[in-house]
Amino acid sequence: MTTSPRRYHITTFGCQMNKADSERMAGILENMGFEWSEDPNDASLILYNTCTIRDNAEQKVYSYLGRQAKRKQEQPDLTLIVAGCVAQQEGEQLLRRVPELDLVMGPQHANRLEDLLQQVFDGNQVVATEEVHIMEDITKPRRDSKVTAWVNVIYGCNERCTYCVVPNVRGVEQSRTPEAIRAEMEELGRQGYKEVTLLGQNIDAYGRDLPGATAEGRHQHTLTDLLYYVHDVPGIERLRFATSHPRYFTERLIRACAELPKVCELFHIPFQSGDNDILKAMSRGYTQEKYRRIIDTIRRYMPDAAISADAIVGFPGETEEQFQNTLRLVEDIRFDLLNTAAYSPRPGTPAALWENQLSEEVKSDRLQRLNHLVNVKAAQASQRYFGRIEEVLVEDQNPKDPTQVMGRTRGNRLTFFTGDINELKGKIVPVKITQVRPFSLTGEALSVACC
Ligand code: SF4
Repeated sequence: MTTSPRRYHITTFGCQMNKADSERMAGILENMGFEWSEDPNDASLILYNTCTIRDNAEQKVYSYLGRQAKRKQEQPDLTLIVAGCVAQQEGEQLLRRVPELDLVMGPQHANRLEDLLQQVFDGNQVVATEEVHIMEDITKPRRDSKVTAWVNVIYGCNERCTYCVVPNVRGVEQSRTPEAIRAEMEELGRQGYKEVTLLGQNIDAYGRDLPGATAEGRHQHTLTDLLYYVHDVPGIERLRFATSHPRYFTERLIRACAELPKVCELFHIPFQSGDNDILKAMSRGYTQEKYRRIIDTIRRYMPDAAISADAIVGFPGETEEQFQNTLRLVEDIRFDLLNTAAYSPRPGTPAALWENQLSEEVKSDRLQRLNHLVNVKAAQASQRYFGRIEEVLVEDQNPKDPTQVMGRTRGNRLTFFTGDINELKGKIVPVKITQVRPFSLTGEALSVACC
């Protein structure tokens, strides 16, 4: 090892779980004396935290990695790491493909980064992809924002959706205890954070692997119980959670969200397809009717709740008529945001082996048609904010206009308004909305007296 402080760079692909893991690994590296480098080419340790959900993210990793592997040939003390889902899935294969790599580590090993690096510095090439029981986090994550933070509440997933690699790469469900979650949130509150998003791949499964039942025989540790338990953490003004699964979403949870003032009226509930036969082929475990009922119940309790979701088009065997059922659902529900994707077969998943795959042309045509409808519907949904006063939690300066700050409404709309970031960062400001776009808003601050 060199004596001057070594610099590190992390590139993160994929979901919020990966972003939270990256923040934790950055915290570990900083504890070890590493300093952040914005430019990967100035760093002597480079970590790619990867994602296998989308094919293009996987391709990008290989192209970035190729460039750094070349650099390593001239600079042998460069440490190259691949973490995350590609690492878990490819394991030793990755070393064969890129022999310059020092460490390949699956997502369950994020907390062990220091140990694993020690083995690398001792001269080993290390692959860590075996199943482990996730240990409680002992290092504070380096958080990218000083205002909002993610807190993992459950790792892994026990579902077996036929298109998804997550159960293979992130292992079985492991919930953290409510006490550990609350302690992390209290620390965040002391550090001045204002918003926490509780994270889990299937967050509605929270607690079912923890022991305990109530006198009525109900399980004691559910997401709903957790929300009540952490709701009064001092300093934390807003609570969000993701990702929800329609199969387990309960009315009790909806009631808790309506009742607890800090829980934001935003629900991210992927539906994936609006057709019951496709949902069955995906092994999702609910029907489109059930999904509609959940949304109706949310709107009964919170008429203005923001609803977002994920959808996949071009699943193997999807007919034009079945695709139309997805369009119909999007037409009817008025989503505030919909993440759309054309199905792409992921290695090691059942659907990847089926013979009824659709052509790329059909998939991309359906994706375009769905995206067009999503934009139209999101623009309509945005109209309801015009002229309203929304509470915006200020996170940063507008990178395109330094006279403006930006933040999010309770419904998670990105909102811009004129103001000084030094004065407003971390404050909740009432903003009168004067311009609406499909996915963002502009307004004028009324005052900053509310906190
Ligand atoms: S619920 Fe399904 S889609 Fe979500 S992580 Fe688990 S297996 Fe994957």
